Amino acid sequence: MPLLVMKFGGTSVADLARIENAAKKVQREVERGYDVIVIVSAMSGKTNELVGWVETTSKLYDAREYDAVVSSGENVTAGLMALRLQEMGVPARSWQGWQVPINTTSAHSAARFVDIPRANIDAKFAEGFKVAVVAGFQGVSPEGRITTLGRGGSDTTAVAFAAAFGAERCDIYTDVDGIYTTDPRITSKARKLKKIAFEEMLELASLGAKVLQTRSVELAMRYKVRLRVLSSFEDTDENSGTLVCDEDEIMESKVVSGIAYSRDEAKITLVTVEDRPGIAAAIFGPLAEAGVNVDMIVQNISEKDYDDHPGAVTDMTFSCPINQVARARKAMEDAKAAGLINYDDLAVDEDVAKVSVVGIGMRSHAGVAAKMFRALSAENVNIKVIATSEIKISVLIDRKYMELAVQALHDAFDLHKAG
Ligand code: ASP
Ligand code: MG
Repeated sequence: MPLLVMKFGGTSVADLARIENAAKKVQREVERGYDVIVIVSAMSGKTNELVGWVETTSKLYDAREYDAVVSSGENVTAGLMALRLQEMGVPARSWQGWQVPINTTSAHSAARFVDIPRANIDAKFAEGFKVAVVAGFQGVSPEGRITTLGRGGSDTTAVAFAAAFGAERCDIYTDVDGIYTTDPRITSKARKLKKIAFEEMLELASLGAKVLQTRSVELAMRYKVRLRVLSSFEDTDENSGTLVCDEDEIMESKVVSGIAYSRDEAKITLVTVEDRPGIAAAIFGPLAEAGVNVDMIVQNISEKDYDDHPGAVTDMTFSCPINQVARARKAMEDAKAAGLINYDDLAVDEDVAKVSVVGIGMRSHAGVAAKMFRALSAENVNIKVIATSEIKISVLIDRKYMELAVQALHDAFDLHKAG
């Protein structure tokens, strides 16, 4: 039997009517001849509520009990989905993580998969069951305790099952109808993509297109699991949504596929640090230890005998999420107090945003950066920091120009046009 994984997110199972709607989509695939593994999230808002209950009950909570409580939302939807399918005449049963078993590490609330043995579920398919409804987001540790995978983890559960069971495809049903060239709230010209490569999706996901958990895309790329993102609120068919796939499957590809942005960035500059071997390690080591996610880094050209400083000095600039500024500042002040680094000033700019153009086509095309900078300059947007990778160019700009920059770049790269 060909096998399909279908994942329904929280809004797609938010109430009994929506569970019924999702069950109908499952039934249709069964009628087409598929065995189906359904992965469900908790009803929308449920996980937040459970987290709140834990935090109200215990400030320094036992992480094992946190997982026991917070994983329970998925158990409810898995059981309800199985019941609904049975009512429709589809042979189905629910599976909690430990029953499969979904073996994970014991890193509670951030567990990772170890393995998913197929035997139990395969035996039920062999008995005539057509659907296995699996609770997403959870697993079981080597110690036999319930674990969870981190928020948004059901996407990753879905991809892991698709890989373990060799599914034809992993369909992610959600409240949007696909992946767009950029956020449609920023420009109405944003266009739904038919296909996007894993690597591009990874850049877009981590840059703030919050449709898929980043880890699920990494896993899909590693195991070449074809992922489809589509709406559970529309009539859908084989051509609906966006396919996230290997780049070999994408015939015609534009140089740039999408524009991503991240609003809540901050830029920190250490003014006049010594320019000597080891200075970068002395700065970024303590930042890493403090858990600061440094993103872009720029070191200025050094100047000899700058002002009253003998020897070479430089400015070191980096960006990080705005909510980590306090931590970054403390790490730098502590490093200075401990004599590890020295600087004259620590300048923080909390009014910046990051805008990135992403596309696998950049690997083989020159001139993308020039075109990007020209488009921004035409709008009088000043670029504060630039970073590039093989398939991405990112700039840090004043936050107030973020929407304008996204719109200008979307136009400049003709992303409203198909193909
Ligand atoms: N219910 C979990 C969460 O809200 C997992 C998921 O839905 O992916 O994070
Ligand atoms: Mg999600």
